[in-house]
Amino acid sequence: MDRQTKQRRIETYRRRCREGGLPLTEQRMAVLEAMLDLDDHPTADRVHDVVARRDSRVSRATVYRALESLARIGVITKACHPGKAVRYDSRTETHHHLVCLRCDAIIDVTDDRLDALPVPDTSSYGFVVSDLRVQLRGVCRRCRELEETS
Ligand SMILES: [Zn+2]
Ligand SMILES: [Zn+2]
Repeated sequence: MDRQTKQRRIETYRRRCREGGLPLTEQRMAVLEAMLDLDDHPTADRVHDVVARRDSRVSRATVYRALESLARIGVITKACHPGKAVRYDSRTETHHHLVCLRCDAIIDVTDDRLDALPVPDTSSYGFVVSDLRVQLRGVCRRCRELEETS
């Protein structure tokens, strides 16, 4: 991600945090910057690794809490994924995911037809849908190439 894009996304974060009534503390800012630098749907542990490299005083628990509160106000999103750890997503605009079942990679995909999918009526489940994202599962290019060469 180039510096300009990063700066723009940080500005959006600042605005959303203000609107959501969440003070953008130094530690939350560090977490957001790490999210942008990783940019591959990192787990909380990976975000913590990056944050701790810059400031070793930031604990894992602080990073977890920051990610959760940022997700609650919609500054980042949680990617639902069958893996063990929650994956966080720095992109909040509508997009979908290609999920590799071998290596757990999550690849962003945008597609007008997927965006246009109608939301089914879930009222009989007592469930309120806030977002519709499609998860296409399969095997990524890297894993396929590894399979072919072995
Ligand atoms: Zn893969
Ligand atoms: Zn994504």
